[in-house]
Amino acid sequence: MKMQYFYFDHNSTTPVAPEVLRDLTATLVEVSGNASSIHHYGQVAKQKLEGARREVAARIGCDVKELVFTSGGTESDNLAIFGVGRKAGRAVKHVITSSVEHPAVLNACAQLEREGSEVVYLPVDADGVIRVEDLKRALRPGTTLVTIMHANNETGAIQPIREIAALAHSCGALLHSDGVQTGGRVPVNVKDLGVDLFSISGHKFGAPKGMGALYVRKGLAVEAVIVGGHHERDRRAGTENVPGAAAFGKAASIGFDWSAIAPLRDRLEKGILDRVKDAKVNGAGAKRLPNTTNIRFHGIEGEAIVIALDLRGYAVSSGSACSSGASEPSHVLLAMGLTPAEARSSVRFSLGPGNTMEEVDGLIEAVAASVAHLRRISPESASSDATQPEAARTA
Ligand code: PLP
Repeated sequence: MKMQYFYFDHNSTTPVAPEVLRDLTATLVEVSGNASSIHHYGQVAKQKLEGARREVAARIGCDVKELVFTSGGTESDNLAIFGVGRKAGRAVKHVITSSVEHPAVLNACAQLEREGSEVVYLPVDADGVIRVEDLKRALRPGTTLVTIMHANNETGAIQPIREIAALAHSCGALLHSDGVQTGGRVPVNVKDLGVDLFSISGHKFGAPKGMGALYVRKGLAVEAVIVGGHHERDRRAGTENVPGAAAFGKAASIGFDWSAIAPLRDRLEKGILDRVKDAKVNGAGAKRLPNTTNIRFHGIEGEAIVIALDLRGYAVSSGSACSSGASEPSHVLLAMGLTPAEARSSVRFSLGPGNTMEEVDGLIEAVAASVAHLRRISPESASSDATQPEAARTA
């Protein structure tokens, strides 16, 4: 019998939605021009590109002129951080970020550090949320940029961006937020959030990989990281990816609200906690993305669970996609105070619009069976009874 596979790794990437695929292929076939050309072919391409920009801008509540198309979340983060950080006359002396950011932000900040900036990495509480008082203490008159993610890719923890924006602005600093896990998924309005810069990525909500955008508040100048022609209002050079943009725009226009996934995520979480002894939710006390749960399973390696579940047809992750494969424990979970062993025993389940209740129930069974098996064969926990749920378990 053919093996069936079920996808629970949407924070890593999402499948391309059928309507998006139709727009992508139609644009590839029908729109061959360069959007910078003045002839008919160029105009058609330009119209397609600008139509897509309107859709994406509308999804996050900004003006089309405030949206720069990029190759994805990583480039958007880089453009925000270097674009402000290296801007002439704005030689960055002081940048504030958090210890739970995605490597696209952490490594850009590390690069600024190597170039002479001072970077402060704010700690987080046990739920993975920064304390606003810590930010207050770290801010100083010379702080140019604060970069704090909207929601964490591993735990789903949502940061208090509105408060952070108000605080940063009160000290004259700009705020960039990496919104790759929220933009296009849950209602986001950049004006309402009060951010100056906001990164999003198409492949996290049904568009193909390789398309992203950076919101740049009107009046704020960013220096291009990719230089060349005058594309994207001099903020990102290179012939525009019109089919990719069309697909990105289509995905944005579909407007599926991932909040509707929360009941399935809650069912999965409860099902696993009820069935598996010594399972705990990482960051359970935080306001979280509606599709994400990150659970640690005492005494077993998260990677072993990922492999066991894959053999049963379920795709999950033991860390952020970019770091899975490496054996280092997650920097996010360590920052939340987990021990290296606890961090290594953690698994991320991230649901998407296509998941069903039957799939969730199947996954609960598969997790219970996989953990029971792994605990049986693990010398370390041979004495523990993996089949009995713990009576009073806290998440
Ligand atoms: N920021 C966050 C929070 C992410 O989760 C990711 C991808 O996993 C990125 C940035 C990078 O985005 P992209 O894969 O589009 O480069």
